[in-house]
Amino acid sequence: MSIKEKPAAAETNNLMNGAEYLASLNDGREIWFRGERVDKVSEHPAFRNAARSIARLYDALHEPEFHGQLTGVDKSGMLTHAFFKPAYSADDLRAARDAIAVWQRFAYGWMGRTPDYKAAFMAQLAEGHQFYGDYADNAFAWYTKCASRCLFMNHVLIDPPVDRNRPRVDVRDQYVSVEKDDDRGIYVSGAKMVATGSALTHTTFVGLNSGTAARMETGRDEDMALVFFIDMDAPGVKLISRSSYEFDAHSPFDAPLASRFDENDAVMVFENALVPWENVLIYRDVERSKGFYADSGFFNRFNLQSCVRLTIKLEFCIGLLLKGVEATGTGDFRGVQTQIGELVAMRDTLWSFTTAMVSEPEQGIGNSVVPKLQTAAAARLYMTNAWHRVREIFECVLAGAPTYTISGVEDLRQPALSNTLERYYRGTGLEAQERIKLFKLIWDAMYSEFAGRHALYERNYSGNQDQQRLDPLRWSQIRGDADRYRSLVDECLADYDADGWVAKHLL
Ligand SMILES: Cc1cc2nc3c(=O)[nH]c(=O)nc-3n(C[C@H](O)[C@H](O)[C@H](O)COP(=O)(O)OP(=O)(O)OC[C@H]3O[C@@H](n4cnc5c(N)ncnc54)[C@H](O)[C@@H]3O)c2cc1C
Repeated sequence: MSIKEKPAAAETNNLMNGAEYLASLNDGREIWFRGERVDKVSEHPAFRNAARSIARLYDALHEPEFHGQLTGVDKSGMLTHAFFKPAYSADDLRAARDAIAVWQRFAYGWMGRTPDYKAAFMAQLAEGHQFYGDYADNAFAWYTKCASRCLFMNHVLIDPPVDRNRPRVDVRDQYVSVEKDDDRGIYVSGAKMVATGSALTHTTFVGLNSGTAARMETGRDEDMALVFFIDMDAPGVKLISRSSYEFDAHSPFDAPLASRFDENDAVMVFENALVPWENVLIYRDVERSKGFYADSGFFNRFNLQSCVRLTIKLEFCIGLLLKGVEATGTGDFRGVQTQIGELVAMRDTLWSFTTAMVSEPEQGIGNSVVPKLQTAAAARLYMTNAWHRVREIFECVLAGAPTYTISGVEDLRQPALSNTLERYYRGTGLEAQERIKLFKLIWDAMYSEFAGRHALYERNYSGNQDQQRLDPLRWSQIRGDADRYRSLVDECLADYDADGWVAKHLL
């Protein structure tokens, strides 16, 4: 089976809008927050504005202003977001890159797991479903289901952070494994970390990343060699939410990012949860479990999405810093300018990575093309080590200025304080309220709890730092790059010997 070529019929459009998306979240899913089970996700103060930020993306899919920038049709004539369908050329990848950027600008780069993140994997099921053998039809059906609605999928790949020194099979009490199967499906128990945005999604993709799969052995780990989808309202699936920065936000004025972009991370627990057969992609197959991550093209593609997202986030930060130094009167100092210039160059490096990823793709699964593996791996490592430098620049350039603030928006409404605030809180060329507003935004971006979680996210969301270095080395060996590098040195060594130059052009 493959995508059926578009018949003469007109394109089909079943894309969700924002209202449908919000309604779809209230399906009885089991989410625990501060000792209580969440009733309606879309109305709960821990999640409601993050949900609305996602709903805004769904509405944009239908707005004429973005038509052509955000969407495209797949081979069957189905209208979808441009990154939710496979790419067959550099032009397709470029269109997808630009569509990712349109969505990211709505959140100023501050939501890592918008629905296009997991589209990096889902789109590849169209061309790559055969990889899943007996479950190939499931894979293809999930492509269609996801692309037709632009479903919001989260994913969990990582085992709980315990007993990493033992074989996975010895940690059955915690790591996800199969309990039994019957004619309805498979029954799984265990926990996974951390399901970013899961409360706001439709379905979870459960799998393994390269580090986890590397620890598995055929003949030993079959019970854990599983890849499947599970709906958020499936009985036996529990989300244990972390604290919510949206819930804790005092007001939009005090926490302008946290109060709308907190894509809550959660621990996902499966307690004898039923996974219907049609949701299974890999069952008790260690080799396929090890292979799907690299072979699917997910790695190549999620780094494109992430790189576009981080570029937009840096654009936002450059603007933030420019306005911050203007407000403190330091913008003309050479040392300050050098640091802002560094940020600009970092942003341009990130965008150049995306250009390289779309312009020089490699053959993907089936007839698809995907960003080149080596470029994606290099971008990943650059990205996960870039954010701490951004924060460092803010710390040095704005120094203590963000702490020169007020405890809450109420102070601005307090007549007894108005003259004092007006006089002592003004910025350079900026009235007090505007200066306070700007630096509250800077605080939320760089120093709040929301910001701290972002720093942890940027460093770790795509695997641990060791793995991010081991992968490029391994791939350079598999793909022959390492041999090329060795032979370059061999050529150099052959230029001379103990008697002098061997190379003919040297004296
Ligand atoms: C905010 C946030 C959101 C995230 N969202 C998601 C998500 O939605 N879905 C998802 O799947 N993941 C997500 N992740 C990533 C994931 O949960 C892990 O944090 C990430 O993959 C790093 O793995 P780890 O924390 O288990 O670190 P570990 O794998 O425990 O590694 C930590 C360090 O321990 C050492 N180490 C570990 N194992 C070995 C070994 N076998 N041999 C030698 N040394 C070793 C290394 O020095 C390594 O750098 C998220 C992470 C964060 C921080």
